[in-house]
Amino acid sequence: MTDSALLNADLHSHSVHSDGSLTPTEVARLAHAGGVQLWALTDHDTLDGQAEARDAAEALDLPWVSGVEISVSFLHETVHILGLGVDVRHAPLIDGLAALRAGRVARAQAMGQSLAAAGIAGAFEGAAALAPNLQSVSRTHFARWLVQTGRAASVGEVFRSYLREGKPGFVPHTWARLGEALAWIHGAGGLAVIAHPGRYSLGADGERALLAAFTAAGGRGVEVSSGSHSATDTQTAAQLARGWGLLASRGSDFHAPGESRALPGTLPPLPPGLAPVWDDQLFSAACLRSTA
Ligand code: AMP
Ligand code: MN
Ligand code: MN
Ligand code: MN
Repeated sequence: MTDSALLNADLHSHSVHSDGSLTPTEVARLAHAGGVQLWALTDHDTLDGQAEARDAAEALDLPWVSGVEISVSFLHETVHILGLGVDVRHAPLIDGLAALRAGRVARAQAMGQSLAAAGIAGAFEGAAALAPNLQSVSRTHFARWLVQTGRAASVGEVFRSYLREGKPGFVPHTWARLGEALAWIHGAGGLAVIAHPGRYSLGADGERALLAAFTAAGGRGVEVSSGSHSATDTQTAAQLARGWGLLASRGSDFHAPGESRALPGTLPPLPPGLAPVWDDQLFSAACLRSTA
């Protein structure tokens, strides 16, 4: 393993601009305190926190790269694609993300109606009140509201009991197409990474289809070390990276203290024998441009 593979990179985290509970500045401070050496804020379907993240990182002398986590519908699954080192002024990316956020509001209203039909009134209003920006309202905000109103003991329990397919708060939703999301990221000069592959239920054929479509469209990386992965998921993702010749990424997927499995900077290093995403020339170039 080279020294660079041991870099304490955290290229996946969330702020109040999506479903995190801290401001970008607070996440930057937490990352810095946790020993992170390269950081990206990757809010869901928005670039709104990027300017503050850049300024906070600069003030802390914390190397930073721009980022976003894009919601994609692939087969029957929602897949998350990270765009790292994107130009935050790229119009097709900005417009594409805005369209995804508009869809979030309509879905949240439908979730509220569905929960009301199951006897839980006021969920949309409750979730919306917890989302600093209505357009970024997410299932996480519903989960927090359901915990706060005593319907479940934890956010994880809400997902199991209310928000999964077949449960009262589940509403099917169509996000971006994979090719569309990759075109936005690549058009913005960024590098695309499949987030937490261990979270998807695509089956072997579906997973192969995802990796084939992703690599054919120029996708370059896969998240291996992730706060959303078990140790087994991490090993499986490492095999994916090796098998498909993909660069490996690392990110806590931090959302909130006490809620997320991993604080920024606390993940194990990448398993051996992988090429880190941050060693790639395109990534270095993106890094330089983002901090310029
Ligand atoms: P959305 O984009 O609105 O569908 O919300 C997805 C978000 O819900 C993810 O980004 C996670 O933050 C959160 N989430 C999904 N599944 C779970 C789970 N099982 N436990 C806790 N949080 C989850
Ligand atoms: Mn999230
Ligand atoms: Mn995700
Ligand atoms: Mn995430």
